[in-house]
Amino acid sequence: MVLNSERITYVFNYAPAIIFYQFKASLTVWLPPRKEVIYMDYTLGVDIGTTSVKTVLYDIHGKVHGYSNDGYPLYQDTPDMAEEDPEEIFSAMSDGITEILRKANLQKGELKGVAFSCAMHSLILLDDNHKPLTRAITWGDNRAVKYADDLKHSPEGMEIYQHTGTPIHPMTPLTKLIWLRNDHPDLFKQARWFVGIKEYILYRLFGVLKEDYSIANATGMFNIYNLDWDDQALKIAGVTREQLPELVDTTYQLKGMHEEYAKVLGIDAETPFIIGASDGPLANLGVNAIKPGVVAVTIGTSGAVRVVTDKPKTDPKARVFCYYLAKDMWVVGGPVNNGGVVFRWVRDQLCAPEKVTAEQMHIDPYDLLTEIAAKIPAGADGLLFFPFLGGERAPIWDANARGSFFGLNRTHTRAHMIRAVLEGIVYNLYTVMLALEEVVGRPKSIQASGGFARSALWRQMLTDIFEQDVAIPESFESTALGAATLGMYSLGLIDSLSDVSNFVGTTVVHHPDPKNFNAYRELIPIYIRLSRSLEPEYKNIADYQRRHEHEDADANKEG
Ligand code: ADP
Repeated sequence: MVLNSERITYVFNYAPAIIFYQFKASLTVWLPPRKEVIYMDYTLGVDIGTTSVKTVLYDIHGKVHGYSNDGYPLYQDTPDMAEEDPEEIFSAMSDGITEILRKANLQKGELKGVAFSCAMHSLILLDDNHKPLTRAITWGDNRAVKYADDLKHSPEGMEIYQHTGTPIHPMTPLTKLIWLRNDHPDLFKQARWFVGIKEYILYRLFGVLKEDYSIANATGMFNIYNLDWDDQALKIAGVTREQLPELVDTTYQLKGMHEEYAKVLGIDAETPFIIGASDGPLANLGVNAIKPGVVAVTIGTSGAVRVVTDKPKTDPKARVFCYYLAKDMWVVGGPVNNGGVVFRWVRDQLCAPEKVTAEQMHIDPYDLLTEIAAKIPAGADGLLFFPFLGGERAPIWDANARGSFFGLNRTHTRAHMIRAVLEGIVYNLYTVMLALEEVVGRPKSIQASGGFARSALWRQMLTDIFEQDVAIPESFESTALGAATLGMYSLGLIDSLSDVSNFVGTTVVHHPDPKNFNAYRELIPIYIRLSRSLEPEYKNIADYQRRHEHEDADANKEG
């Protein structure tokens, strides 16, 4: 780590001495205390997420000096739609930076750079004047499902996955473009540019359209072996290179911000903005899971299992992604839709009485629910839960997947159901881990993070189901920390990305408990076999639900 970038200077060194006579006529020379002004190098990490922008100000030691979380709505007029307003995201980003810098009151030159992370897979259509023709269509939008299914089951689908490292799924801009070209041809023809949310925001600030390799990788149209747009994918999407931003590395710096925005943000227009990467790979960096064999498991609202490799790697069965992080660093893994959001569903839909009790007791309802679940033995007395309430990405990649309990008998209680749900979320992540193992080998160690880590029970469940030690690093907003670390590296403030190890706090380690893992060893094979046999029925039940949603919506309109 380069420490000499921290400069300490003193003011008032030559302040006039005040001389006075003390009692007993001794002479004392009194100098006013030397007031220290400490100059420090700071970097802002900006994480553009699905529901908010998180902005964190870090010093050169990774210490946090300011935090802002600025939200915006997700527009979901129909169950398949998930859009955001680019203007609302731009304002949130601008408010976050402005507020932090106003409070931090840094001295001139102390802010060395601003580095970005961004949610993957968003798509905005822009006109000739770079004005949005659509909102940002996010990763959670499923309207391209039919086109994604067709492509996935064609021979071209597998070819494209093998050279883009991105599973074929409605989340990707590739399949969204096919959908728009077919179902909204007028809108598609009107578009001059196809970009994601970060490219749009940086265009507003700097007037240039650039896209980093990591975000481009997640469009499904980026060739991971050439580090360039993929000709076959572009042809299928119906777009040309000239309609996409110029590709740059994740350490690329933009400078020369439009003065009007520099004034609003309270930033020198020449401050470098590091384009950064996508959020999943940066989350690995932010928990210091960047060495081969160190697997990061996250359970926040959604979830993921990821590991860094030095070369691109894909899966013969197309279950895992491979995304660029930085030179010779690729993140291989699987994202799951159904993480903590399923526990939220349990809290709100299955456990309304417990939620009221917790509120009366002034405790977090999640704490009460995990306390209830802790009274049930590991394996929930043979009750299994498939957590696919929101379709699923890894490992089954089926937007039609739906949730289910299996093995219910009359002795099972609501407490069993809570425990089964927590376990089901982890079983699913474990099956992602098994797919990942086939591609990159057995993990040497596991780091876990996300909202789930607030529960000791859930952390132990993960340890027992994975049957391996699990370390919980104490890093705050790990994705923003990953962005800031990449920024510091680009700026030459640190020598290597592995310096992140100095920024991540202490870790708690859990060890597998044989009392529990014996039950899981018996149940996991049943879960895996069942999961295969349920698969053929998902489309039938999802089609039924969609037809009924539409009929209900029509009836409501007529009513
Ligand atoms: P996000 O993904 O939006 O950043 P978090 O990482 O805060 O969200 O995770 C939110 C999820 O974490 C919640 O949906 C819930 O499932 C889980 N969670 C939050 N608090 C607790 C808790 N005390 N015990 C167990 N799980 C919790």
